[in-house]
Amino acid sequence: DLDLLTVGEALVSLRSSGPLAVGGPLTMHLAGAESNVAIGLARLGHRAAWVGRVSDDELGEFVLRQLRAEGVDTAGVRRDPDRPSGLMFLERRTADVSRVRYHRAGSAGSALCVDDLRAPLAAGPRLLHLTGITPALSDSARDAATWAVRTAAESGIPVCLDVNYRSGLWSREQARSTLAPLAGYASVVVASADELDLVAEPDADENAAVADLLRGGVRTVLVKLGADGARAHTADGVRHVPAVPVTAVDTVGAGDAFTAGYLSGHLDGLDLVDRLRRAVALGAFAVAGHGDWEGLPRRDELSLITGSAAGTTL
Ligand code: ATP
Repeated sequence: DLDLLTVGEALVSLRSSGPLAVGGPLTMHLAGAESNVAIGLARLGHRAAWVGRVSDDELGEFVLRQLRAEGVDTAGVRRDPDRPSGLMFLERRTADVSRVRYHRAGSAGSALCVDDLRAPLAAGPRLLHLTGITPALSDSARDAATWAVRTAAESGIPVCLDVNYRSGLWSREQARSTLAPLAGYASVVVASADELDLVAEPDADENAAVADLLRGGVRTVLVKLGADGARAHTADGVRHVPAVPVTAVDTVGAGDAFTAGYLSGHLDGLDLVDRLRRAVALGAFAVAGHGDWEGLPRRDELSLITGSAAGTTL
């Protein structure tokens, strides 16, 4: 009876309000693309689970506590006694410039392996969501991600893959050689315009990449366009939905929120344009509030930024 299973690495994010070099103060937050999506779904009332490895210490405890507090199912999480929690520092260097620094090599999350995913996937979630971050973490994580998408697809569980390219983890060529085959198992692929060629031919433009993906069995290709909203490509053509106009204060997490909104609409049986509307609404909530996921809406809050007329169709 699980709606969504997400797989990935959850990090402890340490945020500073000023330059790190002069010292804090730091506040501690949960971060991670897949856990953001799980929280987005859980806030909207869906049954969402997150699986991954977390450290067997206070930081792992913190990650689990945050997920549980948001109503995310953590029953499949493994504690790793030998490896530390992955960390990221988010430094507010100037009012307009933030910098990210990761300490995740050798982390508990990067030790994810196939065995960690067998039971959660066998439980038969309605959807599986992964990002292109996980297969970049380690060989075992890449094998786990590949196994999960293949096994889900073979069992008829639709897979959503968010390309989520991280240049600090691998080159574009490395990413393409792993992610393009993974996309062949996905039914929904989410990407920014500049990520599309990572799941298609090198230098493919949007239409060529989309044609490749649809030919390979992908049903829906979602292209995130920041403040310009998003496009959805299917066999029936392309639809565009504009962004919801808001004051952007923190763009981190917009893409994950967008994906959560889309998948929520899918679970609710909405048509494509209404799924996109919910996706851009969640993206707008993410950019209009501080934090990666803290500002995401509960279901009764969806109409807050879209007006009550639009809210009723969300
Ligand atoms: P991130 O990596 O920061 O999470 P992203 O690059 O994956 O973001 P974006 O295209 O920036 O994804 O944002 C995802 C969605 O969020 C957009 O498609 C749009 O609907 C919404 N969004 C992003 N920026 C804005 C904005 N300034 N105003 C309103 N909505 C926005």
